Amino acid sequence: MQKITEKISTLGQDEPFYSFEFFPPKTETGVQNLVARIRRMAQLNPLFVNITWGAGGSTSTKSLDLAALCYKELGLTTCLHLTCTNMDKKVIDDALLAAKSKGIRNILALRGDPPRGEEYWTPSEGQEFKHAVDLVKHIRSQYGDYFCIGVAAYPEGYADGSNPEEQDFRLDLPYLEEKTRAGADFIMTQLFFDTTQFVKFENTLREHPSGLFKSIPLIPGLLPINTYQSFIRTAKLSHAHIPESVLDRLNAVASSDDEEVKQAGVDILVSMIDQIYEKTNHRVRGFHFYTLNLERSVALILDKSNVVKSPLRIAGSSPAGTAFDSATSSIDSALASLKFSDPKVSMTAEASWDDFPNGRWGDPRSPAYGEIDGYGITLHVPANRALELWGHPTETSDISDLFVKYLQGKLPVLPWSEEEGLSAETKIIESKLVALNKQGLWTVASQPALNSVRSDDTVFGWGPPNGYVFQKALIEFFVPAETWLQLKKRLQSCSSDTLSYYACNNQGDFFSNMNAQDVNAVTWGVFPNREVVQPTIIEEQSFRAWAEEAFAIWTEWQHLYAKDSRTTELLGNIRDNYFLVSITHHDYVNTGALWEFL
Ligand code: FAD
Repeated sequence: MQKITEKISTLGQDEPFYSFEFFPPKTETGVQNLVARIRRMAQLNPLFVNITWGAGGSTSTKSLDLAALCYKELGLTTCLHLTCTNMDKKVIDDALLAAKSKGIRNILALRGDPPRGEEYWTPSEGQEFKHAVDLVKHIRSQYGDYFCIGVAAYPEGYADGSNPEEQDFRLDLPYLEEKTRAGADFIMTQLFFDTTQFVKFENTLREHPSGLFKSIPLIPGLLPINTYQSFIRTAKLSHAHIPESVLDRLNAVASSDDEEVKQAGVDILVSMIDQIYEKTNHRVRGFHFYTLNLERSVALILDKSNVVKSPLRIAGSSPAGTAFDSATSSIDSALASLKFSDPKVSMTAEASWDDFPNGRWGDPRSPAYGEIDGYGITLHVPANRALELWGHPTETSDISDLFVKYLQGKLPVLPWSEEEGLSAETKIIESKLVALNKQGLWTVASQPALNSVRSDDTVFGWGPPNGYVFQKALIEFFVPAETWLQLKKRLQSCSSDTLSYYACNNQGDFFSNMNAQDVNAVTWGVFPNREVVQPTIIEEQSFRAWAEEAFAIWTEWQHLYAKDSRTTELLGNIRDNYFLVSITHHDYVNTGALWEFL
């Protein structure tokens, strides 16, 4: 038995359960370490695990491989996400066939990114997938009852940022009804922090005149809070409302210590689970964790909650038989006592992955590395707003203007920017960046050098109190091929002891003055009673993975415009004729060194 609904039906009437969501990491070592992590997290006894699918099929092979591994090697009931827009129908059919052949019996049927205009639409055999319901119907027509199908729902209303005033779950209900009638077996929600709103949503569903939602499992999606920055960012991306009580709780500790933020996050999630379980009279008893491939917060929540309980605590001892002494250390020691599948991975590195910011600038060996947009490459803003912001550039000078405006705070986002506006630390080097962008070096990332600043510094600080943090200056930019040739000569005249660089273009031509295995820590911190922590490192694998994505964003941007337009031609030319260059200067004591070179 492997269908989620069948597994739920074997539980006691009020018995709670939980599931974990993972995404396929971008790097090979990230995958290896994620497998080790899922193996450990399997001991927390989730009812099932979900594997995400990159929009447009961008992670199809990786998602399928990871899902098969979870099921076949780790013995976990597995649900594969599948989207249906902006990709060939064949990719969908191949994925369903492969899922079946690998024994996977659960699919979360999703739309994915909004379908692109007619020009980018590739209907095959007259079949058009415009909404998730089309995928549900397709799966049912092709596979009957073989798959248990889940669909997405939005307790605060569907939102992509294009029309905030129309965000109301009642507007989506007819479509949720349609998806359910088409054959959905369970409903899983978008992440949220406002439990009152979720309970209202649940009540409305249960009382729906159709009677359709009376017994279908409704599983709320919960995001563990790992760091303050990632919490704010993900909440923004998902358009989730953050209740004042949650914000106050986090703001009270945000400036002091990242560990306290994590603990506050655990308390917030534990209380959300309590409220949902109680206020729905236990009708909602399954909880889905968007783990972001991190384990510690989830483990702590399961340890502390009275509703969802991990067997590690119930047993009263770790799998290795060690007695637990306190709630927090019990889980930490239990996790630490489990074996790592890759002996090269040390617990020190593992621990810091969970403690500090990850994503694009994290450690590429971490399973959490590279989670930028959640479900693949997007422009961060809906199409109508993107056109409003970036217009119809026809010359490279128009692009330079956009980059300069962003740096000057006159444009809120660029296709590559992760959040609105520059961070406080980047503001410090704003004038230098503006000068470079005016010359046509379009900067997509940078950080100033830093030699020993207190960890509670309001601009640069991170990590536990009474520590000191350090940074090497780095910069990353797009540059035309001919400028790259000149720059390369200058870079080659410098020793790699002075500065290190990577450069590549969309065709895969790659240059560097480092060996493939060389690693540069570019952010590190020294804190009382612990080893040096280095949350950000730069090395070849991560640069290559990011470069692929950075060039793909030009294509995403192109897709906003008509195929034969001048803007499409310009963006395509840039993508195909520019280099992405990353330079790290090693003299972090001389904070002006990188800028003098440039
Ligand atoms: P739909 O059900 O098609 O709804 C999208 C919008 O269209 C809604 O506004 C809806 O009201 C409207 N609509 C629906 N049907 C109709 C209709 N017949 N006529 C008119 N309007 C209609 N994305 C990924 O790329 N990969 C993932 O792995 C992934 N996992 C997710 C997991 C969960 C639990 C959730 C909540 C979302 C996930 N997403 C994922 C994001 C999802 O693809 C996006 O939110 C997408 O924009 C909408 O998907 P949907 O399945 O809800 O679409």
